[in-house]
Parts: sequence; structure tokens; C-alpha cells
Amino acid sequence: MTESDVIQPRTSHPIGNGETPTTDPTLLGTRSTPTHALAAVPVEGPPLTVDGFVEAFLQELHFGQGVQLDRSTVNDQYLALARTVMHYMMAEWLETGRRRRAEPTKMIGYLSAEYLLGRQLGNALLATELTEVAEEGLATLGIDLATLRSQEIEPGLGNGGLGRLAACFIDSLAVMDVPCIAYGIRYEYGIFRQTFFNNRQLEVPDNWLRLGSPWEFPHPERAVQVDFGGHTERTSDENGREHVQWVPSWNVQGIPYHYMVPGYDNKAVNTLRLWSAQATDAFNLQIFNSGDHAEAVRSQTFAENISKVLYPEDSTPQGRELRLQQQYFFVACSLHDYIEHTLPADFDLRKLPDQIIWQLNDTHPVIAIPELMRILVDVKGFEWAEAWDITKRCFAYTCHTLLPEALEVWPVDVIGRLLPRHLEIIFRINEDFLIEVRERFPGDELRVRRMSIIAEHPERAVRMAYLASVAATKINGVAALHSELLRDKVLPDFSEMWPDKFTNVTNGVTPRRFLRLANPKLSELITEVLGDERWVTDLDRLSGLEAYADDASFREKFRQVKAANKTRLFELLKRRDGIDVAPDNMLDVMVKRLHEYKRQSLKLLHIVHLYESVVSGRRDISDIVPRTFVFGAKAAPGYHMAKETIFLINSVAEKINSDSRMQGRLAVVFPANYNVTLAERLIPAADLSEQISLAGKEASGTGNMKFALNGALTIGTDDGANVEIRKLVGDDHFFLFGMSEPEVAELGARGYVPSSFYEQNEDLRRAVDLLGSGEFTGSNRDAASTVVNDLLWNDRFMALADFQSYVEAQARVDAAYADTEAWTRSAILNVARTGFFSSDRSMRDYLDRIWLR
Ligand SMILES: *Cc1c(COP(=O)(O)O)cnc(C)c1O
Repeated sequence: MTESDVIQPRTSHPIGNGETPTTDPTLLGTRSTPTHALAAVPVEGPPLTVDGFVEAFLQELHFGQGVQLDRSTVNDQYLALARTVMHYMMAEWLETGRRRRAEPTKMIGYLSAEYLLGRQLGNALLATELTEVAEEGLATLGIDLATLRSQEIEPGLGNGGLGRLAACFIDSLAVMDVPCIAYGIRYEYGIFRQTFFNNRQLEVPDNWLRLGSPWEFPHPERAVQVDFGGHTERTSDENGREHVQWVPSWNVQGIPYHYMVPGYDNKAVNTLRLWSAQATDAFNLQIFNSGDHAEAVRSQTFAENISKVLYPEDSTPQGRELRLQQQYFFVACSLHDYIEHTLPADFDLRKLPDQIIWQLNDTHPVIAIPELMRILVDVKGFEWAEAWDITKRCFAYTCHTLLPEALEVWPVDVIGRLLPRHLEIIFRINEDFLIEVRERFPGDELRVRRMSIIAEHPERAVRMAYLASVAATKINGVAALHSELLRDKVLPDFSEMWPDKFTNVTNGVTPRRFLRLANPKLSELITEVLGDERWVTDLDRLSGLEAYADDASFREKFRQVKAANKTRLFELLKRRDGIDVAPDNMLDVMVKRLHEYKRQSLKLLHIVHLYESVVSGRRDISDIVPRTFVFGAKAAPGYHMAKETIFLINSVAEKINSDSRMQGRLAVVFPANYNVTLAERLIPAADLSEQISLAGKEASGTGNMKFALNGALTIGTDDGANVEIRKLVGDDHFFLFGMSEPEVAELGARGYVPSSFYEQNEDLRRAVDLLGSGEFTGSNRDAASTVVNDLLWNDRFMALADFQSYVEAQARVDAAYADTEAWTRSAILNVARTGFFSSDRSMRDYLDRIWLR
């Protein structure tokens, strides 16, 4: 098979001797190039007609699944449908590869440990323009397309925002026909499936591959060996030059699995290449032959553990050796794959920076930097200085956090044990770097210590963000405010040394998945008034809706779309979770990972405050604007406070929903297992988007963008991309509350005492007291104490300080919602003014500011 990303064909060898499969490792991955006249003609997919589609589908069912229609299961049909759609994409993939080889240009190597892809079928149908054809064709066979679509298990190969961002970016690059290979890990188990038991989160392994994964192609013949452990040896050649040899003690192989990443209406298809770890045969057989069968199996399991499971952590580093193994594993496979298999065999590596830029999605792939140095110096024989000059121009680094505890560090002894040669290289990079610092800032030893890639306390450890900052051509934050704080607070010494390295690229989301696919009714309405579908790839065109905000008949249609989206959601929640939702309430949604800085507990306090004010008789239930509060959030399994917060939200929901005094005017629902599939249903139905992190803690957020684009109004702090959303939509169409980042910093410096806010605010005191009283937890005070005590005595993220401002903003929300026409107008303006948040625009910014500079 030809890959779309190969720049030049390599010299070909005959494969094998024609009688037995080749086992010569030097021949395995090489191309066999027949010279027949048909060898390179364009490949065509099946005809784009209903009949052509039905025939291709039945072929797949019969010859791919080995089953006849009347005996087939829904899963058979789903797999056959997926493969049929892939036939259409395949022709475009092959053609993209041919075209790119004919005119090689610089390409993007996107390195990310996570891709939170979501379901593939809908997007593949959209990309191939087959949705109607498939729907009609399947209907003639008595099959419902929607049923097959819901059969797909989404590949949850990411935790949250960071992984979803990578998925949006690679979608946009394909849509813009920019050559990109995205590299990552094919985890056998993705992010866990969340269930609730007695209001507590239970984690179920995500066995997403169990019914077959039709979207991937394994290429075992392109396996890459990855070494670990051992020691290094030094020798001198006749010229006195020192050579270092890494003598590893064990290895695994990485098997690439290819996924097509289709564009939209442009016939371009890029590649996502995910690596799966396997024991190397020799390694295994040796042990097996020595008679230790159990050990042979154990070593195989050990090797395969590397890509077994995604770390269910979000934004806090896990000091687990296996995680470093995962990082090095996928990065080593990816660099090798590109240098040895993608570039032409005689490629002059001095020109590497003209051919590729490796974008590091956070610090997870940063070990790629010493790996490239090792390849250039130890394997390819470059002098250190020249290798460093090449390496420095091949990487760019995106930082995704502001929380100091989320900056990855790896203990020196862990790296030394796993990657001894890489540790030496990191030390050498640091030595040279610190000489540079001393030259620039003579006598400033404190600065030298601050900037060292090696931290000395509490243990000697490699600061991965610093390593990335030293090597990268560009360092970017992910929203305007974040990039500013990154420069001034997270990496101030680096920005002083290299101001030009720093830039901003505000995140974005793909309008294909999060508007066109997730919200077909709104899409239809937009297309109707704008006249065509060009907005799908040119989202600034949404500004054409601006004029319709004042058109009463358009507003009525817009409301009907929202109402239909709510109905669709409520049917799903009924089916999926057995949850009944009152159809007419305002839908107030907070969906994102559970984290203290995101402040789900602040929203909980608001809900308890409303409830308390009714049950205490201070407010009549009829004075409450009817609302349904929706939560969706997974907590990392080891994150105690987050799990206690989930328990408390569920407990409060249970109590409030069963209290007849609320008359359904106040309801709380928490569907389990928030993922991309659920996001696609929830977001189009939302009236209000909750983006309430403590200012200065959320790097960007992308959920906030999805909501605004789907016509929800935001209640939010001046944090991350909220700042830019508010500027674009205007203050009248955004509910701002809370301290600004400088105010947060000031309060922190003065010394924040949460209990003083508790004591001085009657509403807050009543809410906290009720929450801690056992009222929601079956009279068990202890069950609520973890969260309540933390709020009162610690409250690192100042929920109590922002409580009053939040409650007041919620009152403004109620007042605004009561004026239906004005609310609809604001919702329309949110859609019209947020075209900026297309990930296509993010990709243009990366190209202009980072990749093509
Ligand atoms: C967009 C998205 C996120 C990120 O949400 P934030 O509110 O920006 O944290 C997380 N998970 C899923 C499934 C998403 O679709």
C-alpha cells in the first residue's frame, strides 16, 4: 500500500525469493515496484450513486464480514458500512500521496500522546459527501443509518481538551490540504468508561477494540524497534573523535496503525499513524526456548503493556515509569519512521528543517529532542554542534498549562535507568545552555540555577518544559491571556532570554464536527440564510448571520432548532441513562474534566443556594426561572477531591430531583461518561455555558468555543479564551463575573482566607452549612466533609471569593432569559461572532507564526 505522506519512493528491492515470505528485515519494509502500465494510474472508489453504494456495501458484507444480509448483525452492518465508506476515501488518500510526492513541500509532524477522536463514521460520510447516498441506499435494504452510527464505540484515546484539540487540528490540516503526519499511541484501552454506583464514580476499562476497529490498517512490515535500558560505551576513532554507543538491555517493536484523516470537499486525506507495542520475536523466543515459558509470556506482556492503557490523568503528571516508556516509545517510532521510511534514502539530513517541523503537543513528546540528537550524532555521525543546529530548527513547543504542578519533570534516575544515552545528551544540552545563560547574564548564578533543565530539589529531575523551551524554535500558549501569563509567570527567564521565541495561537475547534455534524438543524438554517455551505470551511462567514439577529421570523426558527436539539438530547438521556428532563427549562450545562481549578464546586454551591432559599421559605419556587443543571465530568481515578465532588453533585441531584417542592423547576442531571459523542448531543441543546474556572488557571478551554458556536450564552470568568469570546460577542451577550487574574494574584499575595468570605456572606454560609449538614448525604456529615472542609479551610481556587459575584451574574442570566426575544438575539450573535474559533484559523496562525517561519 502507498501512504499519502511518503515524499519520495525509496529504491526498491525484490521482495523474498518468490517461494517463501521474506524474513530479511532489510527487505521487509521495502517497496516492490512492478513496472506494469497500470502500476501508478489513479485509483477510483466505487461510483457515487445509490446503486453503486449498495453494491459496494453488499460486497463488504459478503466478502469482508462473510455474512449475508438476512443473517447479519448490526455490528456486521456497521463494519461493512465503515469499510465501504473507506473505499471512497481510499482513492483520495492514494491520490493525495501521489500528488504530494510529485511536489514535496515542508510537512508538519504532529506529536501528541493523545487524540480524542470521537466517532469516525459521521465525519467520514460528511467528508466523502456520502451521507444522503448511504442513508437512501441502506434504507432500500431496510437498514437505518442512525442505528449503524450509534453502533460505533468512539476511540477515546485522550483525556479531554488536549487530546480533542489534536483531533481538531489534524481535521483542519486535512481540510486545508496541508501535508501532515500525526503521530501517537494506539492505546488498547482508552479513557475509562464512567459509571455511577451509589452516586460514586466507578471506572470500567474502555475495551474500544472489542467489536473490531474498521478504520485502521496495521502495517506490521513497517515495525520499528525501540530500545530501552542498558548502558553506554565510548570509543575513539583514528582521528581521536569520540563515539558513544548505547548498549540497550531490552527492546520492543512498534507496529504502526494507519488512520485516514479526510478533508472536506477538497479530496485531500492525511494520515494519523498510531503505534502499538509488541514484544520482539527474538527476545521472546530466546526465553521460550530456554524452557521458561512463563517468563516468555511475562516478557511479552511486559512489552505490550507500553501501549496497553491511556493514563487517565488530566493536567497533573504521573510519576510512573511506564508513562515515560510510552512517551519515548511513540516518539522513537515516529522519528525513525519519518527519517528512515518517509524521507528518500539518500536524503541530506542537514536539510531536515526544510522538510519537517515537529510540533510538540505539550511536554509528553519532548524526549524527541534528545532522540533526534542521538540519531544525528550517534547513528548518522554528525558533530554535536551541527546536530544541535539542525535539531533546534526542527521542533516547536505548545504549552497547555498554567498550573506549576502540571509541568512534567522526570527524576534523573528514572531517565538514566530507562534511557541512559538520552540522559547524557540532556546533560550536555544543559551544559551548553547554561554557558549561554552565563554569557548573557554574567554573575547571575541564581538565574542559572532557576533556568537549569535539571532541577536539584526535591530530587534531581529533568524539567521537560525547560528542555522544550531551550530547543524549540517557537513556544506558544493557547489563548491570548495564557500566552501572556506563560511569558510573564511560567517561563519569565526564558522569555527574557529569547523574547522572539514566544508567540500565541488561540485554540479552535473544528466546525465540521462541532457544528455541521453535531447540529444539523442549525447548519441547515445557517446554509439557508447564507445561501451556501462555504461557511463550513470558512467560518468567518457566520458574520453573515448578524443581520438576522433582528429578524423576528429568523429568531423563531432559531428557537425551534434549539427546542428540537433539546428534544433529541432528552430522548437520548432517557434511553441511555433513564433520566427524565423537563422539556421547557433553561438548560444550564457544565461539561469538562472534573478539576478543582475548573470549580464544579462553585456551581454546586450556587445550586444548593437556590435550593436552600426555597426550602427555607425565603423565596417562592415560582420566582425561580425554571432550570435544569447538567453536569458531565470524569475524575482521574486517583484524584480524591474530584471523586468526592462527583459524589456530592450526584447526592445533591438525587435530593433536589426527588423534592416535590421544586416542581421540576429546579433539576440537576449528571449523565455518566462524558465523551465526544455525548458532547455532540449536549452542546447544541444548551442555553447557558458554564466556564467558571478561577482566572489565570484555564489555559484556553475549547468547550467554551463549542457552546458559543452553537448559540449558548456564556457565564464565565475572565480566563483563557473566555476573554476573547467576550471581546468578540460583546459584553451585552456574555455574563462576566469573578476576579480578574491580577485581582486573584493580589488576593493570593495578601493571604486568602476562605472562612472570612463564609462568615461575611449570609447566602454563602447557609449554602455551605446545608451542604455540610448531611442533608444530601443521608444524614452522613462525613460524606460531604472532604469537599466542604476543603472549601472552608483551603479553597486553593477561591470559589468562596467569587461566590457572590457568581450568584449576581446568575441573577442577570435569569433576567435575561425571561426576555425570550432578547435572549435569542444574543444567542444568534454568539454564533455570528465566533467564527474566529474555527481550528482552521488556528492552523493558519500556526503556519504563519511557527511552521513556515
Ligand atoms: C471539548 C472537550 C473537552 C474540553 O472541554 P473544556 O471545557 O475546554 O475543558 C473535554 N472533553 C470533551 C469530550 C470535549 O469534547
